[in-house]
Amino acid sequence: MKEDYPSFLTPQSKPFDPIKLVCQTEEIVCRGKSRKYTDFYCTGVYGGISTGYAVGCCLRCVFCWVDWSRDFPFKLGRFYSSEEAFNILVRNARKKKVLKLRISGGEPTLCQEHLISLLELINKTPYLFILETNGILFGNDPEYVNKLKKFRNIHIRVSIKAGTPKGFERRTGAKGDFYELPFKAVENLKKAGLKFHVAAMTDRRLMSYEERQLLIQKLKAIGYDDYLEEEICDPYPTSLIRLEKANFKLW
Ligand code: SF4
Repeated sequence: MKEDYPSFLTPQSKPFDPIKLVCQTEEIVCRGKSRKYTDFYCTGVYGGISTGYAVGCCLRCVFCWVDWSRDFPFKLGRFYSSEEAFNILVRNARKKKVLKLRISGGEPTLCQEHLISLLELINKTPYLFILETNGILFGNDPEYVNKLKKFRNIHIRVSIKAGTPKGFERRTGAKGDFYELPFKAVENLKKAGLKFHVAAMTDRRLMSYEERQLLIQKLKAIGYDDYLEEEICDPYPTSLIRLEKANFKLW
């Protein structure tokens, strides 16, 4: 398992199936209603938010700032039940007097049982939960999206990594055939009537002007012409190493 598990990208990396990587990663980081986390803390983004730093993702973005638990989930983090994660999130939020909660780090939509159970607990509180996702699972499974309709205090941020199959494969390591899944997620969220907005890693050093235009056109074509949060690649130490390993030169 550890030998086959894909870590950071290199020029030799073979494009992978992100849905298969969901299954491989979930075997490592999910156990029923429990999920692996490396940390819990409060941070100033979103005007102050209590954050659980979850282990595991189904993409391998070259610009990713997440700690090494993304690449080596079998080595890092420990399991927390949804109750434990909820209690720590709320305790930290109270301490810092913030009104928002989130899972960050890895991909929050992995470990569906854990996420739904955590949201059920949060739904009984006044806290707003920000769900930041790469859209792979929400694009692949509309039923998963429909399960979120019963939660009133949730806002979803879908982060799109590419506007073309080639760009998707080059920057996430996943096969280009899957590049539509985050756009499908946008369609599924819209159909379900959930509150969400779209972000995109359109940093000019990573994405060409033409690809950015295609991404925007594609969003318009599926009926999304709302706010687009355009992301910039920051020089976090992990991002710098991943970019270097994949032979990308930004600075
Ligand atoms: S940037 Fe987000 S989607 Fe990409 S590998 Fe990192 S955690 Fe996963």
